[in-house]
Amino acid sequence: MQALSYSVATSAEAAVAQFAEAGGLARYIAGGTNLYDLMKLGIERPIHLIDVSRIDGMDAIETGGDVLRFGGRALMTDVAYAPVVREQYPVLSESLLKAASQQLRNMATVGGNLLQRTRCMYFRNGAGSASMVGVYPCNKREPGSGCSAIGGLDRNQAVLGTSEACTAVAPGDWPVALMAMDATIELLGPEGSRIIPVAEFYRLPGETPDREFNLHPGELVTAITIRKTHAGLKSTYHKVRDRESYAFALASAAVALEMDGATVRVARIALGGVATTPWRSPAAEALVVGSSLTPERALQAGRAAFTDARSGEHNAYKIELGARVIADALITAAERRA
Ligand SMILES: Cc1cc2nc3c(=O)[nH]c(=O)nc-3n(C[C@H](O)[C@H](O)[C@H](O)COP(=O)(O)OP(=O)(O)OC[C@H]3O[C@@H](n4cnc5c(N)ncnc54)[C@H](O)[C@@H]3O)c2cc1C
Repeated sequence: MQALSYSVATSAEAAVAQFAEAGGLARYIAGGTNLYDLMKLGIERPIHLIDVSRIDGMDAIETGGDVLRFGGRALMTDVAYAPVVREQYPVLSESLLKAASQQLRNMATVGGNLLQRTRCMYFRNGAGSASMVGVYPCNKREPGSGCSAIGGLDRNQAVLGTSEACTAVAPGDWPVALMAMDATIELLGPEGSRIIPVAEFYRLPGETPDREFNLHPGELVTAITIRKTHAGLKSTYHKVRDRESYAFALASAAVALEMDGATVRVARIALGGVATTPWRSPAAEALVVGSSLTPERALQAGRAAFTDARSGEHNAYKIELGARVIADALITAAERRA
């Protein structure tokens, strides 16, 4: 059995210092709803956990001024039900409320949600017991071992952003909404603080699917910010899943619009459940900007998002499903009050 130690940080600086002291095999832990799961499966094997769920002030939800700012350890529930978020940014609220279950959202944090790992069944199975080693190779879990999903049971796999090494879907709903809203992530690490756009936070799998995030060792997500925009009002998050009570997306779309009468002036469209990272679609956006939004135009835009899609044997359905989810979300967003 591997020894595991635990410490509690009460400030972001203390958390970073504790990480540096513990070395590379430390992990931050917030709600624990993903990390404990992965530890039980034998996929994550930290030797030290740094509890960041009690850091003073890092749960703040600030809505004054030009930006919305959510502390990295703010609970998914608290952000989803913050009045400004509910009333003026439905895309954010809906992405959180359609994720996981109420019990999980009461534990899980918006920072931890960004860093949760894929639900690809080949990634999650095969690490635990000695008898399973090598049965389901996975490049994300064991770099260079192969990808069991390619040519395997690929119903849930991605059709966008895939590589020869990996087709695992990015699991989170909230990051898809953040992608549509051009969010930025505030980080604190051993080298100091920095801010990066959410679009740069995630890495395509390429030949190194084990490297999923553009994070330096020991960096802590201290906050997530969004510049206030009128597009928040005409926004929505649509998600199709196997069961409505709780399940990960088969296909989802975050849409936010600014309109002049019936004409779309600005469109922000991002996809989930179909790609290896939260996925923005400039092609879909270009098709609706400058035109009035008919159902036909909305479906054309949805299909444009999948022009470069590549499917396997069982996941081709995601291409038409994803296009229709975008189309429905566009119509819903356009009908919302500005
Ligand atoms: C049954 C079930 C169903 C679910 N369904 C959905 C769903 O439909 N949609 C969805 O989006 N999610 C879903 N989830 C996932 C859930 O939303 C995530 O597990 C949760 O958001 C992770 O947050 P956490 O605070 O518990 O993170 P933790 O489990 O504590 O941590 C997750 C990862 O983030 C790191 N981390 C945590 N906080 C920070 C920080 N501030 N800075 C740097 N690193 C940090 C940890 O080291 C770890 O690597 C589901 C989970 C379960 C168990």
